[in-house]
Amino acid sequence: MSKKIAILPGDGIGVEIVAEAVKVLEHLKGDGLDLELVEAPVGGAGYDAAGKPLPDETLALVKEADSILLGAVGGPQYEKLPRELRPERGLLGLRSELGLFANLRPAILYPQLADASSLKPEVVAGLDIMIVRELTGGIYFGEPRGIREKANGEREGFNTLVYSESEVDRIARVAFDIAMKRGKRLCSVDKANVLEVSELWREVVERVGEEYQGVELSHMYVDNAAMQLVKWPKQFDVMVTKNMFGDILSDAAAMLTGSIGMLPSASLDANSKGMYEPIHGSAPDIAGKGIANPLATILSVAMMLRYSLDEPVLADKIDTAVGRVLDKGLRTPDIMSAGCKQIGTVEMGDAVMAELV
Ligand code: NAD
Repeated sequence: MSKKIAILPGDGIGVEIVAEAVKVLEHLKGDGLDLELVEAPVGGAGYDAAGKPLPDETLALVKEADSILLGAVGGPQYEKLPRELRPERGLLGLRSELGLFANLRPAILYPQLADASSLKPEVVAGLDIMIVRELTGGIYFGEPRGIREKANGEREGFNTLVYSESEVDRIARVAFDIAMKRGKRLCSVDKANVLEVSELWREVVERVGEEYQGVELSHMYVDNAAMQLVKWPKQFDVMVTKNMFGDILSDAAAMLTGSIGMLPSASLDANSKGMYEPIHGSAPDIAGKGIANPLATILSVAMMLRYSLDEPVLADKIDTAVGRVLDKGLRTPDIMSAGCKQIGTVEMGDAVMAELV
């Protein structure tokens, strides 16, 4: 049965890098995978086309699609718009409308790029961590929130950190399932020494863990986890954490690998329908120059095949093709190093395609 894939290039380099990932998807179609690709605007492009960052037609498309490939949203020309019309609102709208509660952020350091990390090669070479971040709850969404005036006339800002047992249960299950398919070690990151929310989080994660006897579960306070990530990151296999902690830790983990242009991500709902996107933004500083690295987006297609389309062999094929391109010394400027050949966005897409056949 044909699978419908919504293609949302978004803004800035999103358009350039998604075009390369689409080449890979078209190639897979030629390889016998039954896909229907439908493109729609989102973010600033959505605002330009329909006056809002998540146009109704785009929302209808993503709801009926089996999977979504997103480039990136945002740009300086949209920064003065009212908050609800800004491109980032399109992204938040997609996550909440589709119930994408599980964000999977791998931090993988390709051995060919070990020099790109700011840490010593022996600390990061072979790094392969999966961070599972809760994406639709916690302090980013908790109510009440706002800025109010106190009796003495001073203003105070306030947000609410809240997690229900069912929210913790479902993200824990995603993390345990992934750990089962990887190194069978899961570290749950919290702040249980200070926060009641974390106390409950820990209790529920342990309860779910009883059903996954094959997985070694550990707990770590978030401040320690931040330290351990830069001290000895290879101690981690899978990490699971709340929305805000995951936001911060996954960016730190991404930086261990040295290049933001190499890292894909997935956001999944309860039925493994997913939105796949590079972790980076729309990079207005290099947009239109043809030098953006498309590999994170191409690797996002591999994640789509693995987590939503149940095509692990094809996913491996893409991962292998990317590895071979790096072996050949082909590099976009962001990952360029001595002795390698610098190429642009389209050439990088073509190089991956050449390794796929
Ligand atoms: P960014 O990730 O766009 O760029 C940070 C730096 O990394 C820039 O120097 C950029 O040139 C470089 N970079 C990013 N992706 C690259 C790639 N594929 N190849 C080569 N270099 C790459 O972050 P920013 O500059 O803070 O934000 C720019 C815009 O993107 C803002 O409007 C922001 O809101 C938006 N943003 C969107 C998303 C998203 O769509 N998921 C995420 C982050 C930021």
